[in-house]
Amino acid sequence: MMKNVGVIIELDNGRVKESNWGMITLARQKNTKLFAFVINAAPGKLKPALELFGITNIVDICFAKDWENNPAKNPAVWAKVLINVIKEYHIDAVFGLSTAMGKDLMPRMAALIEAPLIMDCFSVDLENNLAKTSQYSGKTIATIKLTGDVLLFGVRPNCVEPVEAQVSSEILKFEGTHIHSKGLKVIKAGDTDKSSKINLAEADVIVAGGRGMKNAENFTLLFLCAQKLKAALGASRVAVDSGWVPYSMQVGQTGEKVSPIVYIACGISGSVQHFAGMKTSGMVIAVNMDENAAIMSTCDYYAVADALKIIPELTKLL
Ligand SMILES: Cc1cc2nc3c(=O)[nH]c(=O)nc-3n(C[C@H](O)[C@H](O)[C@H](O)COP(=O)(O)OP(=O)(O)OC[C@H]3O[C@@H](n4cnc5c(N)ncnc54)[C@H](O)[C@@H]3O)c2cc1C
Repeated sequence: MMKNVGVIIELDNGRVKESNWGMITLARQKNTKLFAFVINAAPGKLKPALELFGITNIVDICFAKDWENNPAKNPAVWAKVLINVIKEYHIDAVFGLSTAMGKDLMPRMAALIEAPLIMDCFSVDLENNLAKTSQYSGKTIATIKLTGDVLLFGVRPNCVEPVEAQVSSEILKFEGTHIHSKGLKVIKAGDTDKSSKINLAEADVIVAGGRGMKNAENFTLLFLCAQKLKAALGASRVAVDSGWVPYSMQVGQTGEKVSPIVYIACGISGSVQHFAGMKTSGMVIAVNMDENAAIMSTCDYYAVADALKIIPELTKLL
């Protein structure tokens, strides 16, 4: 039987983030009809790219332009709107990215309709309603069977190679301005992005800092180096919990799961929880003062050095 499958498209400055293509490839299975949920964007501009990856229906979801009164930045409202979209188009399964946005949005959606949700999955079988996800910091892989009218899957970014499948699509307009939600009000939205503007999940190179960076100011050293390398900035949980950098930069079990070509860990010991988020990196380079730090035995190259000294030198050389 044909299944209607929705994919929540994440945008960056009006552009479809690269990590969506792998997710769409995973969602595109035998007997599926793909709906892209596009929120407050120009769907006409995105259409050719979405068609290239097999999307036949683009649901253009719009909110009021004035964001002060606009629920668009409020995840509770987003969740409610998306549930309405699911009902309208009789969606059987929804795929979203397991990113900071997905982690905020998808559990809310699941709660609203009491639907089963698996986050951080890297394999989904829609014929048998099975999903695979790693557990216990990546030590085991769980295969989970879901039952329900609507199934929700949060997909680990970059875990599936994107494959094109050209189709043509139609744009369906969904008016979301009338939908509100009680219980959560956005008072202020600041620019929390101290990271380089390159998206963590999509970066080819990541420069990450941990407790060894000692304070927020020293992260500027990593930022300057990251700029030279066209890299994204990442961090350990200690650096985030200490208030040095925003949560969006956290890599690990409770942060982003990343798979860059090169991961440079500065002043990070290599705890299992941190490792759970970056172990699929192509190459790991560690800078640590302690030769016996756990990361030294799992990385490809290491420098036993003071990151506060070696990083500025590296930046100069670059
Ligand atoms: C449920 C749970 C979930 C967690 N989730 C995460 C997660 O998602 N991500 C995460 O990162 N952690 C997570 N943690 C925390 C994790 O257990 C570690 O506490 C954390 O990763 C350690 O961070 P760190 O490596 O920066 O600090 P530390 O372990 O303190 O290591 C600091 C390192 O810096 C080195 N160093 C010190 N000064 C310098 C210098 N000047 N130059 C170079 N090296 C220096 C030291 O030798 C040391 O190896 C989680 C923990 C729990 C219990």
